[in-house]
Amino acid sequence: MGILSFPHKLEEYFDFDEGVLRERQYKHRFFLFSVRDWTAIRKGLFKHFGSGAGLILLNMARSVGCELASEEKKAGMPLQKFLDVLATRTYYAGWGSAVMTENDDGSIHIKIKDCAFCDKAEVDPNATGCFVLGVVQGMIDQLIESPHVVREEKCQTRGDRLCHIVIQRAV
Ligand SMILES: [Zn+2]
Repeated sequence: MGILSFPHKLEEYFDFDEGVLRERQYKHRFFLFSVRDWTAIRKGLFKHFGSGAGLILLNMARSVGCELASEEKKAGMPLQKFLDVLATRTYYAGWGSAVMTENDDGSIHIKIKDCAFCDKAEVDPNATGCFVLGVVQGMIDQLIESPHVVREEKCQTRGDRLCHIVIQRAV
């Protein structure tokens, strides 16, 4: 798997002008959202919708993934190129440090240390649906022509040390 090198300064990726923050390449407007605020939303959803909140979060994440992919929208993008896009997006969005590896069986493993979406979440052994899982699913749906299965092997909200997402070609 290729090692990507990123510019290290945020100002190489973002423009900030009079309270308006924009991604340089696509001119999309950004706003900052703290991990703490995210945790409050997550907690609120689970409080009101119980286990159904997992499905709501997953669908929110899928929409984000589809939207992120819309700039690069090319059905049939090679998986390697897709991973570069994903790596860049997650890096600059501050979602956590992601390491991607490919196994001999062709499966792709994304391991995220300090996942922003799962950080400080209350540990629930039955929790599913790490936000990044939904984002990856959404992006795959948009960009990759052949069917792939995306699953969550580990998640910090279940008490695991890191979040581990697996992408596999569907058979
Ligand atoms: Zn997670």
